Formats: sequence, C-alpha cells, structure tokens
Amino acid sequence: MKKSLLIVDDSKSIRDAVRSALNDAGLFTEIIEAENGVKAIDILLKNKIDFIISDVIMPGVDGYKLISTIKNQEKYQNLPVIMLTGQKDSVDKIKGLELLMLESMNKKLEKMAITDELTGLYNRRYFFMRFEPEFERCKRFKQSLICILIDIDHFKKVNDTYGHQVGDVVLKKLAKILMDNQRTYDIFARIGGEEFIGSLCNINSKDAYSLAERLRKKVEGFNFSEEENKTLHATISIGIGIYPHPDITIAGIDDIIKIADDALYKAKNGGRNKTVIG
Ligand code: GH3
Ligand code: MG
Ligand code: MG
Repeated sequence: MKKSLLIVDDSKSIRDAVRSALNDAGLFTEIIEAENGVKAIDILLKNKIDFIISDVIMPGVDGYKLISTIKNQEKYQNLPVIMLTGQKDSVDKIKGLELLMLESMNKKLEKMAITDELTGLYNRRYFFMRFEPEFERCKRFKQSLICILIDIDHFKKVNDTYGHQVGDVVLKKLAKILMDNQRTYDIFARIGGEEFIGSLCNINSKDAYSLAERLRKKVEGFNFSEEENKTLHATISIGIGIYPHPDITIAGIDDIIKIADDALYKAKNGGRNKTVIG
C-alpha cells in the first residue's frame, strides 16, 4: 500500500537526515519535503499524505500554526503529526524520531494483532482472550454474562448476486452498526466470515433480548448500498446465550457459546431475521 510522508523543516540538512533515517526503516513509499508551513499546506491540498513530521520553529507559519490549521479541517482530523520539539541539532532530532517511530510501530503491531482487518472490529483471538476472564469475573462477582451470536442471513446470495466486494461492504457496514451500538464494556468481534459475537456483562436476559432486537431491526432497515438511488438490504439472525442459565449448568465459556449457537440455529430454522434466547 502506498504511504506518503511529509517532512516539514526549514533546514535542508535536517530534512535530508530525517529522510535517510526513514528510508532505512522502509515505512513510507513516498517522502515529500516542505521548507515551511505554507508550502506544507499547499502540498497537503494537492497530495494524499498519510503522516507528517514537522519542525516547530520555522519562519512564517511555524509548526504550531501548521498543526492548528490542519486539525481545524475535518478531513485531516486523523492525520498523524509528529512534532520535533526541543532538540536543536539533527542527531538529537533523528534519535527522538526513531524512538517515536518505534513506539508508533509497536502500537500499530499491537493493534493489528487484535483487529479484524476487513471490518476494524476485534478479531476472534482477542474475543476469546477477553471472554474467558470476563466469565471468571462475572462468576466471582455474581453478575450475569451474555453471549450474542450474529450471523448474516443468506449472505452467500449477497455475494452471488452483487459480488464479493459488495459483500465486503456489507460486512464493514454491519460492523460499524455493531460498534456504534455497543455499550462501554461490551466486546464485539468478527469471529468468522459473516459471523459476529458479542459479550455483554451485567445485563438481564430481557434487556439483552431488547438490545439484540434493536440491532436486528436497525440492520433490517439499513440500506447497505453504496450506489446512489439503489437499495441493498440484509438481515441477521441472533442467538443469545445467558449465564447464569435457569435450566443449564454452565461451567465455562464453551457452554455459553453452545447455548448461543443452538439459539442461532433455531433462529435460522425459524425463518431467519429473528432473535432467539437459548
Ligand atoms: P445462512 O442464512 O444460513 O447463514 O446462509 P448464508 O448464505 O449466510 O451462510 P453460508 O454459511 O452458506 O455462507 C456464508 C457465506 O459468507 C459464504 C462466503 O462466501 C461468505 N463470506 C465469508 N467470509 C466472507 C468475506 O470476508 N467477504 C465476503 N464478501 N463474503 C464472505
Ligand atoms: Mg449466514
Ligand atoms: Mg455463517
């Protein structure tokens, strides 16, 4: 993937030093330079920039002014900017920069390890890493724990009719709906192709059912199409597993998931676009 970096510094020797340090790291496919803030803004407007490293003290538009100009614009809100403050000579600047890059790379790697690449939701591994201790915690503090399994109905048909890419869009938009509707301590993840899972603690089965139904209806009414004046609808089936269960002894997370899975199966057999509590 193309990744462009913009280096803003009034000193050519520092720009050169930053460039060569970063060339070695191989993080960017393109490195553009600007010798002041005005040029930087001009370059930003004309190019797709993914990352900025800027000096603070520069004649005219300095680093601070540059940042405030950039961050005032919605489309640049998430653009990462590293400021090279305090260090006077280029050796110190590069050292500081290398530390920053290492730190940000580590953060990125950590995030990648727990994130589902397509949807940005947590991945399967992370879910299970968290769900097990969640269960132990709920058991100990005598709180309830709910597992909700969500599976898109007839998703194969979406792929067959509109293509795999449109299918991917549906997955991404559904993930966004899940993200936007979760409560602070809920954990939602994509655990398989078109299957999602949620962990909700301290909620009774009636409220969990209402929450699932709200989600189901939201998806039912959502237009997944990216084309203007077109509609694309999808529905989901939901199975809910609850702990503690009135009839079944639950020894661990496998038991909760099994109950949710059986409930999901019933929702599918019962005609889909349904929520079933196990
Ligand atoms: P059901 O209502 O019984 O769940 O039917 P279904 O078609 O959704 O279920 P099935 O398990 O038969 O098919 C799942 C489909 O999901 C098949 C597969 O091509 C598709 N799928 C899995 N992962 C992805 C993905 O990452 N992107 C896209 N576009 N499709 C995917
Ligand atoms: Mg399905
Ligand atoms: Mg499935």
